[in-house]
Amino acid sequence: MTLAIAGGKPVRTKPFAQWPIFDDLEREYVLRALDSGKWGGVGSTFGGEEPFIPQFEREFAKLQDANHAVSCVNGTVAITVALQAAGVKSGDEVIIPPYTFVATATGVLAFGAIPVFVDIEEDTLLIDPDKIEQAITPKTKAIIAVHIAGAVADMTRIMEIARKHNLAVIEDAAQAVGAQWEGKGVGAIGDLGTFSFQSSKNLNAGEGGIVITNDSSLWSQAWSICNVGRIPEGAWYQHEVLGQNYRITDIQAALLLAQMTRLEQQMIQREKNAQILDGLIGEIPELTLVRRDPRITRHAHHIYMFKLEREFAERIDKNEFILRVNAEGIPISYGYVPLNQTNAVLSATKQWLGEERSFECPICERLSAKQVLWLGQNVLLSEEEALHDVAESLNKVIRSFDV
Ligand SMILES: *Cc1c(COP(=O)(O)O)cnc(C)c1O
Repeated sequence: MTLAIAGGKPVRTKPFAQWPIFDDLEREYVLRALDSGKWGGVGSTFGGEEPFIPQFEREFAKLQDANHAVSCVNGTVAITVALQAAGVKSGDEVIIPPYTFVATATGVLAFGAIPVFVDIEEDTLLIDPDKIEQAITPKTKAIIAVHIAGAVADMTRIMEIARKHNLAVIEDAAQAVGAQWEGKGVGAIGDLGTFSFQSSKNLNAGEGGIVITNDSSLWSQAWSICNVGRIPEGAWYQHEVLGQNYRITDIQAALLLAQMTRLEQQMIQREKNAQILDGLIGEIPELTLVRRDPRITRHAHHIYMFKLEREFAERIDKNEFILRVNAEGIPISYGYVPLNQTNAVLSATKQWLGEERSFECPICERLSAKQVLWLGQNVLLSEEEALHDVAESLNKVIRSFDV
């Protein structure tokens, strides 16, 4: 069969599920926030109905099995806030994986802390716990466990290592709303967890973020940093620590509470469709599934990641593969470039340290350059036929490579 890229008929012409999904419920909540006149966060609420922000913080903390939450402007700032609340200072080292969104590193670098990269596991694409201890130095103060694609990093091992070396653990759960490790919501398994509500994320308010924790003193630190250094029970012009204004608006919280009512059903659908896709892709010898640790009792499936089989990948060009599949009507994408090779990260690190620092993460570098491919979460919200179109397109393109 002629490839679509060479003028043939594409496998799929229908669109995938649209994102975001919303209806009259979002309209009603946003209008209620508007009509209340209380658009801002803390401080604009003198009497009347309870605003959406505290309701949302309560509901979200409950969803993730946490005792406390403080909302903030985005998931990048949430990482900075969580690190600072945990006592990380400029010059301290923070261990992170290289296969993640740039914010995991820039959230560290934002206040002069230094990211130290620990390579990922070949089969899960998550930070390799076996390599964490050798990266710990006297300057190490924290580990950021990133739950990439909605798959949970090995929190059991990471917590053991952190406790042994007296390090804080921050979970970057921007992609893992609703995910669970051994039955427990992610985010408050570590000392603090952070989430993003940027428009691509599984819970979406256009922009937004949140920090959660089970520790009331960490919560109060995080709250102060987000609220210009005030303290929760303090006076309006009493500023005790260095903070910024990182608050969200009540209109965002209104959207988030409405979107939360859809989350459970969407999670069930993504899980069902991810299993179907696993079955279809698992039958193709030139492709490899990402291994899911059985302790991930709920996977958020923010991205559906899979790999070109190593030998096959060595013989073809990943970019050319993507172009051919895209032409068949399937939006697969390249995915992350390793952060240990990202200029913004290298130059900021050099600026803070006064000298260059380099890290080798050979597994991440090969997987990124040659093997890992992505499909967005909305593909998993599409009808079952869409998944068969994905598999058919992948098969068609694989056969087109004469290797
Ligand atoms: C999206 C994302 C962030 C940053 O969130 P923003 O709200 O876009 O600032 C951080 N970490 C990961 C892993 C992300 O996917």
